[in-house]
Amino acid sequence: MSYAGSNPDPFDPSDPFSPSDSFGPSRPRRSPLRRPLTVALAALVPGALLGWLAYEALGGTGSGGANGTGAGAGAAPSVLSSPATGADSAGSAGGDGKTGVGTGTASATASAPAGSGATSLQGKVVVIDPGHNPTNYQHTADINRKVDIGTNRKECDTTGTSTNSGYSEAEFTLDVAHRLRTLLQEQGATVRLTQDGDRPYGPCVDERARIGNAAHADAVVSIHADGAGTGQRGFHVILPGAVHEGAADTRAIVAPSKDLGKLIAGDFTRATGTSPSNYVGDGTGLVTREDLGGLNLSTVPKVFIECGNMRDTKDAALLTSGAWRQKAAQGMSEGIVSFLHGS
Ligand code: ZN
Repeated sequence: MSYAGSNPDPFDPSDPFSPSDSFGPSRPRRSPLRRPLTVALAALVPGALLGWLAYEALGGTGSGGANGTGAGAGAAPSVLSSPATGADSAGSAGGDGKTGVGTGTASATASAPAGSGATSLQGKVVVIDPGHNPTNYQHTADINRKVDIGTNRKECDTTGTSTNSGYSEAEFTLDVAHRLRTLLQEQGATVRLTQDGDRPYGPCVDERARIGNAAHADAVVSIHADGAGTGQRGFHVILPGAVHEGAADTRAIVAPSKDLGKLIAGDFTRATGTSPSNYVGDGTGLVTREDLGGLNLSTVPKVFIECGNMRDTKDAALLTSGAWRQKAAQGMSEGIVSFLHGS
């Protein structure tokens, strides 16, 4: 009663479902997509029905009442049909009511973390480092300049590799970085890219590391794809080795970076369905290196990921697929999210 009394238009809340519901008959009744809607409608039934009955009891007369009754008459049948659909789904799912309920519950549960997930990484900073730069090749003198990486001096940056058909590593890394950024931002994280195709070359590897440090990043992922021999396939995650020389001191980040790398490797395998490298890492998908400036100069947890071998035609078929790159970003995102929740 208070519902009807406090809200002269009790059926408004159900309006968003009306257009969907009107498409109902043309859809497969047991479509998995329909179940969350069914569950949602079923949840609305008591309130909506109560409101409708209350409205009828109050006598929907007068000018406003005509509209109200019309809305009520329209909404009530569709609402009333929902429980039947729900019961049908539940009852027919292998003849096990629990299965139907379980599916509904799972859908509802699955949507819950997505909702709460929007703020779950609030305050967390992730720096994504898309390897190389699409126009590095036009600035060979600049990228060949040596920079100090603590343990020695190395080139500022390299052009990166490409597939045999010319899809460059820099295009690949930027695309995956954008996808990963979106996924992490959806979780509430603050995301920064070291470059966004918005500069002529670089940054140099030392600057790439310093960007993560200056951002006080909770995690940094440098995205790459390898240029190995034909038949060499699969991804690997590169972890920082313990170095303490010159400006390089990774001792504090070795352990957390390993945690980050392991989580990413696991989720990357699952999300992409691809196997760890068959040419480095002994099948673990993990490799430790002490010669990369981007890792040596990092003071925050950081890993590289070589997503596959651009020079192998089978790997290249994956790397050039947008759908696969989305899976790759998804795997990385899941690993990063797990790491951040544990830290
Ligand atoms: Zn690379």
